[in-house]
Amino acid sequence: MIIGDIADRIFRGVETVQDGVNEALFEPVIRLGVTGLSRAGKTVFITSLVANLLDRGRMPQFGPKGAITAAYLQPQPDDTVPRFDYEAHLAALTAPEPHWPESTRAVSELRLSFRVKPRGLIGSMAGPRTVHLDIVDYPGEWLLDLGLMEKSYEAWSRDALAAARERPEGAAFCTALEAADPSTKHDEPAAKALAEPFTDYLKAARAAGYSDCSPGRFLLPGELEGSPVLTFAPLPEGDAPRGSLRREFARRYEAYKREVVRPFFRDHFARIDRQVVLVDALGAINAGPPAVEDLRRTMADILTAFRPGRVGRIMALLGQHKVERLLFAATKADHLHHSQHPQLTAIMEALVRDARDRADFAGAKTDALSIAALRATVEETRDHNGDTLDLVRGYVDDGQGGRKQAAFYAGDLPDDPAHILSPARSGAEHWLDGDFAVMRVLPAPLTLKPGEGPPHIRLDRAANFLIGDKI
Ligand code: GDP
Repeated sequence: MIIGDIADRIFRGVETVQDGVNEALFEPVIRLGVTGLSRAGKTVFITSLVANLLDRGRMPQFGPKGAITAAYLQPQPDDTVPRFDYEAHLAALTAPEPHWPESTRAVSELRLSFRVKPRGLIGSMAGPRTVHLDIVDYPGEWLLDLGLMEKSYEAWSRDALAAARERPEGAAFCTALEAADPSTKHDEPAAKALAEPFTDYLKAARAAGYSDCSPGRFLLPGELEGSPVLTFAPLPEGDAPRGSLRREFARRYEAYKREVVRPFFRDHFARIDRQVVLVDALGAINAGPPAVEDLRRTMADILTAFRPGRVGRIMALLGQHKVERLLFAATKADHLHHSQHPQLTAIMEALVRDARDRADFAGAKTDALSIAALRATVEETRDHNGDTLDLVRGYVDDGQGGRKQAAFYAGDLPDDPAHILSPARSGAEHWLDGDFAVMRVLPAPLTLKPGEGPPHIRLDRAANFLIGDKI
């Protein structure tokens, strides 16, 4: 066993015992992970959740009524993790001309603390309690990297090259690969000449709606941008003499796993107790069947990280917390009239069904919801050729730097989710029964009454499922 592994095991063991003692004797801490693929809605979710937990006027379904006597932000416990920039994100959403905040690019954290009325006889003798909620925001793309931990460089190269050859976005990288001779001596310009088109390909594939574009840090590099640990690419099998480009790429791939993937899982992921996975199912439906199928496969990959014991086994960590509750939430439900929300929830449930069945989150409670963290539309019903049509109205970009109001109808989601998932699975290019159009709405100007957070859809139910039992 490697020394690092032993040290990790001991460290995790001690820390787990310590956490347990703290929790029993002092103040319970809930670590809530918020994840989802890029643009799934993590930043908006956390911002609105925190604002609505601080001012609970719009959270009727959260916790026992009147249990929380105060809620306040506190310095977070981890000094080296960036703080989730709550104030700046809220300012963006509540400005006179509101705009969407900047999206998640790396891991960040925020601590919210509650003063809670005591429960029961023994509790009332002990006086009010304090419960801390540590919210950890991280890109879902990083969870895909868990799969790399089990793959050698050669095995990863095989899979990554097969995907690149299949996707039109991979053409330029494949051409660069043909021009290269990876068995010759490594030099940095040659390494870059392959790593750059590979990174560009991953970004283009992501923009085209493909979800599986790992290694995750190639898309969201943060402070690692330009470093050797991100300067490699998959290569076809061949000679790998000492000092060759192939040998160096294989070494960097291993360094990526060791220095980037492993610390993330050990320091952040393995400590999460409650998790919400946000899914932009509507966005994928809007993009067409291939995007839905890709989302389904990627969610299955992402969710393997939550299989009990999997991370522990791969990372040789001892005492990994089990995620006790796992919520799957379809975001941006305000693009649809509420009469279609049950269909959206059913589609989202079907999307993660395979993963849920296979993962068997032993002991973990799971639930699925359609939500809008920030409601940016109002509903409207219109007569249309003698029929009524359920619409939503919101602000959209007018194409000239301004905004205008528009009412739109996103299309009829089918009652049976198989009507969406089956054509996607069998490789259809377009939907047979018409199109689904989701306009990108802008946040609406807000006038918040004292004690009220921003408007939302079912954020209180989401919060209640995730942490209500601890309040
Ligand atoms: P992240 O990459 O997961 O952090 O995603 P963001 O939270 O930045 O959200 C990405 C985009 O999705 C935003 O810029 C909005 O356009 C849209 N969005 C997110 N949440 C909502 C919501 O509740 N309602 C609506 N209408 N749009 C949303």
